[in-house]
Amino acid sequence: MKRALIFGVSGQDGAYLARWLLMQGYEVIGASRDAELSTFANLQRLGIRDQVQVLSAALNDFRSTLAAIVQAKPDEIYNLAGQSSVGLSFQQPAETHESINLGTLNLLEALRFVDRPIRFYNASSSECFGDTGALPADESTPFRPRSPYAVAKAAAFWQVANYREAYDLFACSGILFNHESPLRPARFVTRKIVATACRIAQGCGETLMIGNTDIVRDWGWAPEYVEAMWRMLQQDQPDDYVIATGESVTLQSLIEAVFAHLNLDWRDHTTVDPALFRPTDLRESRANPAKAAQQLGWQAQYRLPEIAAAMVAAERDPALAL
Ligand code: NDP
Repeated sequence: MKRALIFGVSGQDGAYLARWLLMQGYEVIGASRDAELSTFANLQRLGIRDQVQVLSAALNDFRSTLAAIVQAKPDEIYNLAGQSSVGLSFQQPAETHESINLGTLNLLEALRFVDRPIRFYNASSSECFGDTGALPADESTPFRPRSPYAVAKAAAFWQVANYREAYDLFACSGILFNHESPLRPARFVTRKIVATACRIAQGCGETLMIGNTDIVRDWGWAPEYVEAMWRMLQQDQPDDYVIATGESVTLQSLIEAVFAHLNLDWRDHTTVDPALFRPTDLRESRANPAKAAQQLGWQAQYRLPEIAAAMVAAERDPALAL
């Protein structure tokens, strides 16, 4: 039986990845900064809390990172931990940098130290590309990061590439575009839109306050994206992959789709608030996930209509199986 250690198991991707790995017959160990305090609500929601062993480890602390690896004895490590909000990174740039960049460096150093053939996945981000314009980004597109989060993710990406080359580690980065699910915290725009629209449909009289609705993003479905992470670690050679649907839409289209599912006209319930605009934002983010399709045999199935429908259904019925 293979053993996987997931840093960031309490998050959205961590929970879906844990479920996917359990389905593949893995023993799953999950790390959280404070496993005693965490409720692991996402693991509970997926009904797998009892099947995942947990331990405490903080990636910015080398000793605890190394101790987690020694204790878990994993065949595969997935680094999904770190401050994950672009918006929050403008308020907490140092925390963002430390949890992402130093955290990844500590993991890579710990891998060198234990000197076992552990395969390593690192959660990189489409934010590294910055504004792609009309040209979809692929694995050879240069990085032009435009937020503290994106700068940290870009640095961590290069740490991984450098350690792979210098020390022959089996280390991969998945450059994932936005992926959503009902497990997204309400601070993220997709979940905020869905939650607010559902309350409006129930007659709360609220208005959806939103930032720039002209931004263009490639939104996918998180449960599918974790399978791509796992596939990267099953290849003969380590490599980096763009993971996305290949279809980008405006935030306005997303809002329209969500409200339409609730038989509402979004224009009656939405106000653009310039206070919610970010200091710098990407106008357009487009992806070319052809390499993942060719080499991993992975393609996204869910597009905007399916994502909007599934998120609205889960918001209206929290008992719904996810
Ligand atoms: P989440 O925020 O849901 O989960 C990340 C986990 O990391 C948290 O559960 C938390 O675990 C831990 N964490 C949070 N803040 C910190 C911090 N300051 N220092 C250390 N650990 C922290 O993220 P997702 O599951 O959505 O994403 C997983 C990874 O993929 C992240 O690295 C994210 O940046 C990246 N990514 C996500 C995308 C998306 O669309 N979802 C797109 C591209 C990349 P605990 O509190 O238990 O320690």
